[in-house]
Amino acid sequence: MQPLRYLGIATAAAVIVFGAGVAFGAPGGAGSVPTAGREGPAGAAARMPDGRIATPPAIKYLPASASCPVPAYGPQFYAPGYRGYAKTVALTFDDGPGKTTGRILRILRHFRAPATFFNIGQNMAARPALLRKEKRYGFVLGNHTWSHPDLTTLTRRQQAAQIDEATAEQRSITGTTPCVFRPPYGNYNATTLSVARDHRLAVWLWSVDPEDWKADGSASAYWVHRIIRLAETEGIQLQHPVIIMHNQPAGNPATALALPAIIRFFRHHHYRLVTLSG
Ligand SMILES: [Zn+2]
Repeated sequence: MQPLRYLGIATAAAVIVFGAGVAFGAPGGAGSVPTAGREGPAGAAARMPDGRIATPPAIKYLPASASCPVPAYGPQFYAPGYRGYAKTVALTFDDGPGKTTGRILRILRHFRAPATFFNIGQNMAARPALLRKEKRYGFVLGNHTWSHPDLTTLTRRQQAAQIDEATAEQRSITGTTPCVFRPPYGNYNATTLSVARDHRLAVWLWSVDPEDWKADGSASAYWVHRIIRLAETEGIQLQHPVIIMHNQPAGNPATALALPAIIRFFRHHHYRLVTLSG
């Protein structure tokens, strides 16, 4: 765990260099600096009913989707606009499906709140029913690789395999193909961007990080309030924040407990909740 954290911090500078071509300040607010490159570990992979971790599906063809819009090249940090709204916010949930995914789905449906789930292939394979629920309820399903590696340590072929395997898994379970992609830890390089473009995947990082993964399964009031406070104080400074949260296999109840307050806060401040599908 620790080496990955340090690696994430070390590569944050590279992320910012690559992101320099993106219009940082314009939609995000004056002086905002995206905080990508510091996502925490995804935790242990979900287990199949037989106790094993899923093996990746065989890729028989390039599962890029012609139905996806041609994405912008390079990472995006700010939520798409929505007609008539000066401010939008995108809630995103990474590393699932997991033990708290069902709770998060119930909360989102209760509030009629759109959201985007960046799922891990081997966790989709272990919990296909949750993936089908995400799709049935109209949430946007994104690619977060097959097994959550640091892509910058992989060859082009390996990076493409990680992306293809997750896409193939989503397609086999839901019949849909992802159009959005988030690199694990927010770490990527020029190869990642090139592969994503070839696969018609829009690369999404984030601009608000409530660090919910640090709760590490705790549901204590300390973590719930910390997640709410970080989401609100960072998000309110931006016109179009993208908030990264987690629903990893082991579950993160603090995220689910914080979610209603976060949704109410942004709606109270006249943000329109949007997905990353544009
Ligand atoms: Zn992740």
